[in-house]
Amino acid sequence: MASFPIKATSVVGPNGKSCDGTEPEKPCTGVVTLEQPSADTITITWDIKNLGEPGSKHGFHVHEKADFSNGCKSAGPHWNPLNLDHGAPEDEVRHVGGLGNITADADGHSKGSMSDHQVKLFEHEKFGSVVGRSMMIHAKEDDLGLGDNSKANEPGPPQDGFVSKITGNAGARIACGEIK
Ligand code: ZN
Repeated sequence: MASFPIKATSVVGPNGKSCDGTEPEKPCTGVVTLEQPSADTITITWDIKNLGEPGSKHGFHVHEKADFSNGCKSAGPHWNPLNLDHGAPEDEVRHVGGLGNITADADGHSKGSMSDHQVKLFEHEKFGSVVGRSMMIHAKEDDLGLGDNSKANEPGPPQDGFVSKITGNAGARIACGEIK
């Protein structure tokens, strides 16, 4: 049995290469803190700088791996141990790693917290553990599985804008970091 509380952090940044290979002038960086006081619930707190334009929303996910050998690109898809379609964090049908969006404040930063009942810091029999996986912040808003999904069944990598139920069409990966 795991003993509680369990705490983990993820220091996020572009990890070397942004998706288009350029180095952004003001890279998106920050810290995500995960605190699990009991088996049932977790509080996820974030403090992110240079997120984007004031008021812009950005997909916020746990991705499968902490492999940053090709920047955030190589971190794999959303953490989805139940093999369900992507949705909103409050949906029954969702990726465990699908945490919705965070919003940039007037300075383009974002601070906040949320609670969740699927993300776990211990090896849960149904939801697994996110330790050793990655936190990910995207360039665009996550459509929460409600957008265009018309190319979800095509071969090859997911095509942004047409794969709502796979990626939330959240675009490039602007910051990532290992959960540890
Ligand atoms: Zn993502």
